[in-house]
Amino acid sequence: MTRKGNRADATRRAWLETIERFRHDRDGPGSERYWSPLLDTASRDEIRAIQEAKLAAAVPFLYENSAFYRRRFNALGLLPSDIGAVDDLIAKWPVVDKTEMAQDALAHPPYGTYTTMSDAVWAERGWMLFSSSGSTGEPRVFRYSHVDRELWAWANARALHAMDVRKSVGLPTIPGGGLDAKARANFVLRYKPTILLSTPTYALYLGRVMQDLGSDPRTSAVRQLFIAGEPGMSVSSTRERIQELWGARLVEFYGCTEAAPSAGGFSCPASLSQDGAVSTHLLEDVQIWEAVDPADRRPLPDGQRGLTVCTNLNSEASPQLRFLVGDYTLLDRTRCACGRTHVRALGSFGGRADDLITLRGIKMFPVQVEQAVRSVGGTGDEFEIVLATTEDGLDIMTVRVEHERFPKAEQVSRQIAGEIRSRCEVRVDVEVLQPGTLPKTEFKASRVKDRRKKQ
Ligand SMILES: [Zn+2]
Repeated sequence: MTRKGNRADATRRAWLETIERFRHDRDGPGSERYWSPLLDTASRDEIRAIQEAKLAAAVPFLYENSAFYRRRFNALGLLPSDIGAVDDLIAKWPVVDKTEMAQDALAHPPYGTYTTMSDAVWAERGWMLFSSSGSTGEPRVFRYSHVDRELWAWANARALHAMDVRKSVGLPTIPGGGLDAKARANFVLRYKPTILLSTPTYALYLGRVMQDLGSDPRTSAVRQLFIAGEPGMSVSSTRERIQELWGARLVEFYGCTEAAPSAGGFSCPASLSQDGAVSTHLLEDVQIWEAVDPADRRPLPDGQRGLTVCTNLNSEASPQLRFLVGDYTLLDRTRCACGRTHVRALGSFGGRADDLITLRGIKMFPVQVEQAVRSVGGTGDEFEIVLATTEDGLDIMTVRVEHERFPKAEQVSRQIAGEIRSRCEVRVDVEVLQPGTLPKTEFKASRVKDRRKKQ
């Protein structure tokens, strides 16, 4: 074997040993409240010490096993020894974004070189391939190993424990894949699952399908709605609508394929406080989380709203340094009322920077419009945001929404427009439609139709 091959293997082994060293409570919960009391309630100094130890192993591992990272080190004039601590990382290593990864995937098809997965490791202990859709270019691919699968199960167990999911006879699941919504609704009624996993959009949709079938979702066995894939916790009017529909508590998972395998963000017993404030935890011994300025991507102090950046410390296949996940949030590292000491996203996550709408210089998120629309009683679950250019060249936004008081359309329209104006500081037209007019959204909602003439 070549010397380079030796270094690649040696740094991989050192990396795997480091991960194992800090994998406490690997086979079961260490206490009733916390899966891993040692890690989940570690002091800030202890959390930082674990991060430093993992980072010190991750940096050479990446340098020797990812051509993308090695090129980046060279281009920056850095050696792995230059990044020995979290502060070095934040000061010296510019954030990596999706575009950079996509360019690498394009130049090195089909897998790119931004992961540490080699063909040899894939053949020996490969587990599953995850891919971005590739609808807007070369797909970004991530091949995870069985080591990752085990780490994933462990991190998710910690998150699920915080969400009050307890193992009784294992944690049996009923997959709903390949079924239509009516069949899934019947599954809920017949097999009585206590937790429903879906996007927030689908939780709404499925509940309505059950109502159409003559059943009340509130009388089902579902006591917890486990949502992921779209902002949900952060949009209070949507959250309340879903909780009300199901008579169940909403909890959320937050993460991204690039920084798997890990739970990413998760709810805890204190995630939704009495005054309506929400927060979502992140696991800091497995990932380093920061917020950066959306404009220049400089690190922001805690408490300032910015875009999420993740350094992934617990993956054999995809350990990333400062990957721009790109959701707006505000981080807080004070101890949570649940006793966990890890960072929380206050207000949860409000949408990806990619989703931002800019209209006549005003910036807003689709979720802000959603919040406004759903705050008005009687609005339907569906709505559309249509952006267009008038003949005079003026960009305008029309929000199309269904309402049960359709005959009073004008009054409803004024009310919704007022809500949007106060939340987004923008004047829009609101078109009120008869219930059942808009197409039903099942999974992830795609609410924005941009028909503006490009300048
Ligand atoms: Zn908590």
